[in-house]
Amino acid sequence: MNCDKNSIIYMDNNATTRVAPEVLEAMLPFFSDCYGNPSSMHNFGGQVGRVVAEARGQVAELLGAEPEEIVFTSCGTESDSTALLSALQTFPEKRHIVTTKVEHPAVKNLCENLGKLTGHQYHTTRLGVAEDGTLNLDSYCESLADNTAIASVMWANNETGVIFPVEEMARFAKEQGILFHTDAVQAVGKIPINMKNNQIDFLSLSGHKLHAPKGIGVLYVRKGTPFVPFLHGGHQEKGRRGGTENVASIVGLGKACELAGRMMAEENTRVRALRDKLEQGLLAAVPKSILNGHAEQRLPNTSNISFEYVEGEAILLHMNLYGICASSGSACTSGSLEPSHVLRAMGVPFTAAHGSIRFSLSVYNTEEEVDFVLTKMPEIISNLRIMSPFWQE
Ligand code: PLP
Repeated sequence: MNCDKNSIIYMDNNATTRVAPEVLEAMLPFFSDCYGNPSSMHNFGGQVGRVVAEARGQVAELLGAEPEEIVFTSCGTESDSTALLSALQTFPEKRHIVTTKVEHPAVKNLCENLGKLTGHQYHTTRLGVAEDGTLNLDSYCESLADNTAIASVMWANNETGVIFPVEEMARFAKEQGILFHTDAVQAVGKIPINMKNNQIDFLSLSGHKLHAPKGIGVLYVRKGTPFVPFLHGGHQEKGRRGGTENVASIVGLGKACELAGRMMAEENTRVRALRDKLEQGLLAAVPKSILNGHAEQRLPNTSNISFEYVEGEAILLHMNLYGICASSGSACTSGSLEPSHVLRAMGVPFTAAHGSIRFSLSVYNTEEEVDFVLTKMPEIISNLRIMSPFWQE
């Protein structure tokens, strides 16, 4: 298959990112010459084991964590499931989970299915958000109860980029002996994270959101936090996750974390400025366009804009003709005509929720690309609106 990446403008980095060339280069030997099993006693495997240890150190460094606190998994979804199910098994008498209405399906659907699978023995409090997508700390504190096993709140939302005060939330949970998990899949690599400065017990991340390949994730488990594995099997990951390690992807993730540490400043200056130029240009040029989510308390790369009275899917198809890649809602919900659960929780009106587009940039985007998108979008939206029975100038 030949994917011509040069003919596209990729602004869908919250869906997935390009594997950095340095990451690919670091991975290649582990598909060919260096195929030893990291658990083997011989030197051929042992040297691969040392590379896995090095990658663990690189991930730990980015998070301000200890290498022993890093457990490699297959993806962000597995990390989320592992954290929540571990807490529920640790405290079998506690049958309550606190989370939010805007979590990624990796947490949202897990909680919904837990309820169903166990004849509703488990119940979940799903906290609402304000119009700007932020959470109210008072209602969070009120929701924590004696029978709460774990609170799980994402660090940053994948659709709007809104950042939640998870460090403060973890502190409140700890005061009541409740475990705290954060899905930081969208936050890691984009904003600074230092696990030495907080009391979060579990943190999930996913390689493909930070220029490592798909199919590799991490669950951070704070030293001393009780832990029950999700995948029982061999003694890999110190008995915390069975299954022979995905060595090449682990090496790639380690390299990606090292790069992310170095690129974080650029993400928060140049990428933020590009995002702001794109956003301000679109809001100024397209009538009835609205920013979804808090303007400041947000990831530097994400902009979610509703173009009222047009269908997000139709906008995406027209953008596609120019090679512009973005998302309507989250990648996992696009394809369905249901408006995004995140925008619904924020009370975004139906006519605006349907026409929402998420632009998510990365360090690989350029100002020329932003300028190109700014020249095309007003024309796309106005052509679609002419066809809309609901649109009036
Ligand atoms: N959590 C969030 C916030 C996400 O954005 C995603 C992916 O979009 C996931 C979890 C799932 O990660 P993975 O695709 O690695 O399972």
